[in-house]
This record gives sequence, C-alpha cells and structure tokens, in this order.
Amino acid sequence: MRIFDPHIHMTSRTTDDYARMAASGVLAVVEPAFWLGQPRTNPGSFTDYFDSLLGWEPYRAAQFGVVHHATIALNPKEANDPRCRPVLDLLPRYLDKDRVVAVGEIGYDSMTPEEDDAFERQLALAVEHDLPALVHTPHRDKARGTRRTLEVVAASGIAPERVAIDHLNEVTIELVHGSGCWAGFSIYPETKMSPPRMVAILRKYGLERMLVNSAADWGVSDPLLTLATAEAMLADGFGEDDVEQVFWRNPIAFYSQSGRLDLTAVTGAAEPTFAGSSIKRGGE
Ligand SMILES: [Zn+2]
Repeated sequence: MRIFDPHIHMTSRTTDDYARMAASGVLAVVEPAFWLGQPRTNPGSFTDYFDSLLGWEPYRAAQFGVVHHATIALNPKEANDPRCRPVLDLLPRYLDKDRVVAVGEIGYDSMTPEEDDAFERQLALAVEHDLPALVHTPHRDKARGTRRTLEVVAASGIAPERVAIDHLNEVTIELVHGSGCWAGFSIYPETKMSPPRMVAILRKYGLERMLVNSAADWGVSDPLLTLATAEAMLADGFGEDDVEQVFWRNPIAFYSQSGRLDLTAVTGAAEPTFAGSSIKRGGE
C-alpha cells in the first residue's frame, strides 16, 4: 500500500515517526507552514522556519525514503499579530521556490477582520503564483467558518478545483460537497474524525476530490492514522484501488496542479549532508 499524507507537520515529529511511516507505506508528505504553539515575535522567525521547511526537513525525510514538499503561508492564528503581518510581504519570494506546492495553511481561526484580510491577500497570491491553496477551517464555530470560507474562496476568483478545504467533518462536508473544492479530513486519535467516521463519509460522498490526512503535529496526534483509515476502508469492503485513489492518486492530483510535485527522488541517496550537517551522529 502506498500512502501520501497531504497534511502533516513533520518538523514536530521524530525520526522514529519517519521510520514507522516509511515502513507503513507513507512514502510522500506535504508539510503546511503553521502555528508552532509558541507565538513568534518577528518576521525573521518565519523566514528561518520557511527555509527549514524547504531545506532541512526534506533532507531529513529523504533519509527515510519519504518525499517531502511544503506549502507556505502566514497561518490564520498569527495573522492577528501585528508583529507577524509583515510576513505577507515576504511570501512572494517563497512562493516561487521549487518544493512549494501550494499556498497554505490559510483561512480562519477566530474569523477576525485581520484574518479576512490575510486570507483574501493570500488567495490572491495563489492566483498570481499559479498555485493551489490549502485552507484550514476553524475548530470553533466550524459550520459558520466553513460557510464564510467558501464565500471568500468564490469571491477570490481562484478555480475551486485548486482549493482544498481542510479539517472537515460530517456537518461541514455538506457545505463543501458540490462546491467544486477538494474536501480534506484530518484523522485524530481522540477528537474530530476517527477512521470509522471517515469510512462512513467516503461511503456517503464517494472518493472524488477527497483528501485524508493525519495533520500530525506537536499536539496529541498520530502519523499512522492514514494507514489505520486505509485499513478500515478495506475492512469495510472498499477495494485496493479505492484505497490507492484516496491515499495516493488524489493528493498527487491536487498538488500536481502546482506543476512542482516531484516524486522521483524516493531513495534519499542523493544528498549525503545538508549544509555540512547530517542526522547521523559521530561520523557513522
Ligand atoms: Zn495543520
């Protein structure tokens, strides 16, 4: 089984995770730029973070046979902090880089006027740079947030098939289904979607334009819940080809719209070091 996790924050994970993922068939990931928990106080923190998502992290992933791409944006939560807003002016130079396959994650956290402005400006950047957009929906007041998200996406002029609306559930899929946008679901150990709930949604709405991710990060999360959901699909009577569509072909189809997805380098043998550093210790 081949799995492409279209939304996972590997910066927050260990090499054990990479090893278990590769052994489970998770051979490709996209890491969206997001909030790191600790508030950042200046744009320089973001440039170092973005550089790491495009340099060190793909190198680290490659050591385990996992192909890593990123999406770049000012996340919705930090869009509210005046100290971070200048990051919007730094984005154009990042959006031209090779391993950037979308603008994201953008969207709403608390639905403030500052978030409206950052969301609209970054959708415009996606259009300008000919990139898809990965859109986070709020964890509170989700239905209203998803409705508002779809309105802003429609008004932006971006083609709906170039937009993934993420972190959906049984309620908000009703709003996104039929919009032309891709529907993303994050499977978590305790809250939000579980593998059985995800399988029920796939039964009801079909497999087209569906993306399933672990969204694993620094919180309670599990990078192998993609595999658990794939196995739950098979147990429910879906075929191997259905699993391949949801967990491999769909994310490839979505991110290929960037023209930058490169899945050829899977072995990690190409780069022995990254800027003189290696993840191995003591010159192994
Ligand atoms: Zn995320």
